[in-house]
Amino acid sequence: MSGRRVHQVRRDLLLAAVREAGRSTRADLARRTGMARMTVDNLVTELLTAGLLAEAAAVADGARAGRPARSITLGPAAGGVVGAIVTTQGVRAASADLTGRILAEHHLSGADLDSLALLVAECATAVEGPAWSIVLGLGAGRDPALAAGLQQRLGRRVIVRTAAELSLLGEVGYGIAAGHTDVCYLRVGSGITCGLLLGGVLHHGAHGAAGRIGHVQMDEIGPLCRCGNRGCLDTIASAPAILAALAAPLGEPVTAARAVELSRTDEATERILADAGRMIGRVVADVANTVNPALVVMDGPLIEAGGPIVAAVGESLRRYAQPEVAAGTTIRAGTLGDRAGLLGALFAGLRATPAARGGRTLARVSPAVTTADAAPSGGGRSPGDRERAVRQDILVETLRAAGRTTRSDLVKRTRLPRAAVAALLDGLVRDGVVERCTADGPRAGRPSPCFRLVTPGELLVGVAIEGEGIRVIAAGGTGEVRWSGFRSLPLSMDGRAVMRAAAGFARELLDGHGERPGPGTRFAVSMPAPVHPVTGHLSSRSVLTMFAGFSPAEEIAAVLGRPVVAANNAQLAALAESRRGAARGARDVLYLSCDQFTGAGLVAGGRPHAGAIGYAGEVGHLNVREVGPLCLCGKRGCLSAFLSPGYFAAVSDGPPDEGRLLARAASGDRPAQRALLDAGRLIGRTVSPLVSVFDPAVVIVGGRFTEPGGFVVDGVRESLQRHCAPAAAAALTVVPAALGRDAEALGAIESLL
Ligand SMILES: [Zn+2]
Ligand SMILES: [Zn+2]
Repeated sequence: MSGRRVHQVRRDLLLAAVREAGRSTRADLARRTGMARMTVDNLVTELLTAGLLAEAAAVADGARAGRPARSITLGPAAGGVVGAIVTTQGVRAASADLTGRILAEHHLSGADLDSLALLVAECATAVEGPAWSIVLGLGAGRDPALAAGLQQRLGRRVIVRTAAELSLLGEVGYGIAAGHTDVCYLRVGSGITCGLLLGGVLHHGAHGAAGRIGHVQMDEIGPLCRCGNRGCLDTIASAPAILAALAAPLGEPVTAARAVELSRTDEATERILADAGRMIGRVVADVANTVNPALVVMDGPLIEAGGPIVAAVGESLRRYAQPEVAAGTTIRAGTLGDRAGLLGALFAGLRATPAARGGRTLARVSPAVTTADAAPSGGGRSPGDRERAVRQDILVETLRAAGRTTRSDLVKRTRLPRAAVAALLDGLVRDGVVERCTADGPRAGRPSPCFRLVTPGELLVGVAIEGEGIRVIAAGGTGEVRWSGFRSLPLSMDGRAVMRAAAGFARELLDGHGERPGPGTRFAVSMPAPVHPVTGHLSSRSVLTMFAGFSPAEEIAAVLGRPVVAANNAQLAALAESRRGAARGARDVLYLSCDQFTGAGLVAGGRPHAGAIGYAGEVGHLNVREVGPLCLCGKRGCLSAFLSPGYFAAVSDGPPDEGRLLARAASGDRPAQRALLDAGRLIGRTVSPLVSVFDPAVVIVGGRFTEPGGFVVDGVRESLQRHCAPAAAAALTVVPAALGRDAEALGAIESLL
């Protein structure tokens, strides 16, 4: 970090602290930011001159004698933000100061550029000082040219977001989703849309088409939808569809407000709303099973907390989602109503201001705050901890930028006190983050000790627990594969014993290659079951009962004596295929591992997405048919139940066996090939809601079913084109996997990089 950058970070930190506190003294600011008092004094003087801070009347400090401290607040030049949103109801605009306090809020029924520009200008005049950002939200079907027009009129950049995304941010910043990182925001309006917050980051999709939940197909021969498909959710459960269904028996048009009122007393109205809720709930269950949010927020003119739609969605969720997912997903009505989008626009703007940047620095060094979208705050640490963490962050950033550096250079570059630098370096060396090294070249006088960041592990070992055995791949510190091994092992025994056998096999291989697990050796294990992303534990209700209720990483670590991380196999295969396989370079990827236990892995914005409790991508238990065959999980009609060997008995010739089916297809047996093509079609249709909502750039099809040839891949491709929302299907690429059976172990290695 350069001296100038450090100065910028400190300025932002100070602004964030003032914004948080509202009004404080210089001494208080030094405590809050962890900066030296003299640094704070200098910065305050600078920011007072710039008008970003203001000095208010003295703070009366009770019994203390002497001159009372002057209090510091945000100054007139601190400015604020402007947000606007255009929907079918017209234009809304508002402005806020940097503390988020609303300064102005206006509404016009026209949705044209003149109305929009007028309102934005009016709200901007309510901001004293600069308007740091202008955020514009566009509702479904609103003309994107409005954004370009506004930008031209104002002569400055306008940040554009969809109304659904901003409503989601509104609930995260000001409403019921505060503090959550995995949220699905569902709006039932003229269409049904959803916004996704995945691991604290807004998900836009590869083509900006994420969240098209209204065009999930419910009925292949249902009414024609405006998207061109038949039987979309919108045609059954959007607000206009529900109101039309209500108007028929009543013989007159009904407004949304009237419908909500009627539903409290009139049983027929309640049933019609509940029926729409059940339809929405089926799709919400699919989203919960595959994206695994912790919270679903519902909004719209017909949505009421405790009303029939919200209740019915909950009912469908319990019916169609896996028990653990249903238990881990909360459904709530939004609390901000019509203002959600507008408040979200303000919140999105606040995140782009200097004071928010400072807040994020505080958040980054504080593990208590994990979301980049959380309201800027200092987390729950004591001032002393925070001071240490901020300084440590600055020191590590400086070492990262500069490479090996002497202690005296670090003092110069960071402008931190010499004693603090020495103490922090001691701590970082103890924690294994930083190591001492020899300085470059000879130097006169007593040399200052030299330090560098510890480089990533010299040996990365991926261990995959697969259906037929254990695969181990070892790679160097930059991920280049060095050697690998496979040992067959039937998984029909105690899961902990399998983990110990896997660890033993890994150690044998290490020994055989003359490697000894040391500080530079790191392990990751791929598991055929959901792994909780925080606790690292396998779900206690895993369908594979031997892999339930324990920590696979701990079992392996106990044998190898080194730290181990664990994750789900399809999620890891998705990561490997996106970084070094069939979808290299794509940021939003869906990987399908097709076999009896079909699973999926999601990569969102380049990062693997495990979901709130590790269940993201569990497509094998999506409901295909209510009265279908019984599944191992105890529900009827899961996708997995239609892919079990018994289901292929007619073309298997002999007792059902997956291996024989695949061998027959590979040897050219047409019925077996045709059965795999159909299996692909079924998988494609079943995951089409996920594709419509997630909007991946590439769908990768792998797994055992693809080994005899491209039959399953063709089936998946055909079905996705047929059943996905046209916006997501148009530019979608469906390709066979490239890494074969190595994908999971390679993904484990990628997770260590
Ligand atoms: Zn449609
Ligand atoms: Zn099942």
